Amino acid sequence: MSGPVGSADCPVDDDPHHDAAASAVFERYTARDANVGGITVRRALPKRERRTVGAWCFVDHFGPTDVPADPEMQVGPHPHIGLQTVTWLLEGEVVHRDSLGSEQVIRPGAVNLMTAGAGVSHAEQTPPGSAVSQHGVQLWVAQPESTRHGAPEFVHLPDLPRLGFGPWQATVLVGEVAGQRSPARTDTPLVGMALDIDESGSAVVPLDPSFEHGVVVLEGTVSVGGERVEPSGLVYLGLGRSELHVSARGLTRLLVLGGEPFEEEISMWWNFVGRGHVELDEAARAWNDGSDRFGQVDSTLARIAAPPRPFKRGE
Ligand code: MN
Repeated sequence: MSGPVGSADCPVDDDPHHDAAASAVFERYTARDANVGGITVRRALPKRERRTVGAWCFVDHFGPTDVPADPEMQVGPHPHIGLQTVTWLLEGEVVHRDSLGSEQVIRPGAVNLMTAGAGVSHAEQTPPGSAVSQHGVQLWVAQPESTRHGAPEFVHLPDLPRLGFGPWQATVLVGEVAGQRSPARTDTPLVGMALDIDESGSAVVPLDPSFEHGVVVLEGTVSVGGERVEPSGLVYLGLGRSELHVSARGLTRLLVLGGEPFEEEISMWWNFVGRGHVELDEAARAWNDGSDRFGQVDSTLARIAAPPRPFKRGE
């Protein structure tokens, strides 16, 4: 006769060879589909049960799009507050225009980092007539109280540190990995790295154990700490890991995101990260009223109006 084996059958604490990794946090969250600027994205973060990983608070994975069957990405001018947008492409190109006067084409290998602070606006689109598939991510980082009321900023970072871990290549998007630091500004202790492999192989990638970490697979199938992980969802790995064991067969691309747990309680709605609904409503009203708080974007695309915010219970 067989049956479930409970802790009474097999007390885990009695095993002197108990593997610490076996009890480490490993939580899977499924991405949900959303439509952004005409294309379908898989949103891996935020989830109801998991709002942030470090200060990372939003992960949209788009593409690869089918050219020319799928529409081009066209996201008209819209505002942000209280966050940084981090754009990273695997394929294709996107033109970014913002209220600071920036106009920047981003291609694979570079990061576009926009810091909203008290307010910025931007538009993003596939160059008209582009024959290249679009595949990438847009990530948001919540800004802490100390910087979120500050000035907006935009930087294009084409030269990021690259490291090899066995057959894997790592690009440091944000923060530091094995002593190699990205030039990206960080307002809280944070790391973001892209891991790529073309063939098959395994590697051990160092992590900062004072950070919590998550993994988002963008392409291929990878084994993370012995567990199989497929594209687009988030795997949350918790705090206290000093290394990540990754193993893949064939072309595989993933992101590792981490940071010190973000202790400030944030409110997210539409394109805003704030503290409580009052300031989110103020930002939406200011944008819809054409306030100069968000500046002007030189774009032929239509401005996107803030929709009515759904009321929260008790409001
Ligand atoms: Mn945006």
